[in-house]
Amino acid sequence: MNIPFNKVYFTGNETSYINQAFESGKIAGDGIFTKKCHHFFQEKYGFKKCLLTTSCTDALEMAAILIDIKEGDEVIMPSYTFVSTANAFVLRGAKIVFCDSRKDHPGIDEDSIESLITPKTKAIVPVHYAGVACDMDKIMSLANKYNFFVIEDAAQAIDSFYTGADGIQKPLGSIGHLAAFSFHETKNIVCGEGGLLVINDERFEKRAEIIREKGTNRSAFFRGEIDKYGWVDIGSSFLPSDILAAFLFAQLERLEDIQSNRVNKWNQYYSELESLQKSDKINLPVIPKYAANNAHMFYVVTKNLQQRDDIISLLKEHKISSVFHYISLHKSKFYSKKEDDKILDKTDFYSDCLLRLPFYYELKEEEITQITTLIKSYFLKN
Ligand SMILES: *Cc1c(COP(=O)(O)O)cnc(C)c1O
Repeated sequence: MNIPFNKVYFTGNETSYINQAFESGKIAGDGIFTKKCHHFFQEKYGFKKCLLTTSCTDALEMAAILIDIKEGDEVIMPSYTFVSTANAFVLRGAKIVFCDSRKDHPGIDEDSIESLITPKTKAIVPVHYAGVACDMDKIMSLANKYNFFVIEDAAQAIDSFYTGADGIQKPLGSIGHLAAFSFHETKNIVCGEGGLLVINDERFEKRAEIIREKGTNRSAFFRGEIDKYGWVDIGSSFLPSDILAAFLFAQLERLEDIQSNRVNKWNQYYSELESLQKSDKINLPVIPKYAANNAHMFYVVTKNLQQRDDIISLLKEHKISSVFHYISLHKSKFYSKKEDDKILDKTDFYSDCLLRLPFYYELKEEEITQITTLIKSYFLKN
């Protein structure tokens, strides 16, 4: 491919920080770079308690343990999401209740949530798709009314924000009881495989440390709060090596540059394709007034599956890689048998018609123009 779909951007400091981690002689979890990363997130976004994990999937699994998901508990989430959003809760015995997407956006349709709530509803997992905030006022007020937990799947939502009715701009990940971010190589800020659990409800702080350290109180021991540590709860090994944290910290130091670069690219795509939206050929991403744009991805929405397939092939002929995204989870091989033939037509629509275009730091201005020109040429003939 001449233009790949994604390309990891190295800021240049990753390897020297990894060397520093080696030289410190400690490369297990919670070393100097993990602490630097925790500090960065707390300072920059005001997150209260942050714990690096080996993936967003792990952070979600920790969240499921923390809220004590048990066999038969119900968890509401969009069907248009990555498998980990659901798997983390299925692993603990939850029944997943899938919700449709919005008409104007692949994210969860906030107005459809209330009809899915039952006495068994234990949590809802809003996914900030493409880094665009869900309407958190609506979701938090349902959570208060019916008393369930909100776990933000903020995998794609680093450096994105929500402004609610109170007019205060809040970082995504700071609103639910818990939130999970990803630093997988396909995200804005990366370390290969990595994640972050944000704990906004202090009831969970102590136990989160224990679950992350194999069910032991080792974190409190290292802080000198207790004189020996042992097995106190269930848990697993969710903390990443400091080598990964060193890589991540190099990226975090360049966060503003990375973000402004991505936002510029996003705006270029948007303005070059806007004429196609005006002539009603395709739809472009919608950013609601309450949401910021962290430029996680650029996608277009075609009118039907055929158009999307045609555009993928056309771009491929020019050695440009574009990809569709999620196959609805309620129709997946694994979960469809557990579903009572639920119809989620907006989810299915985005499964068929959403097309993601190449998006990465080093993508050139003229490459974006080449891509948008090809897409426009398709609609001249069709
Ligand atoms: C990437 C992603 C995940 C998984 O992140 P990992 O760090 O790879 O575990 C989960 N949910 C969503 C919405 C994602 O985009």
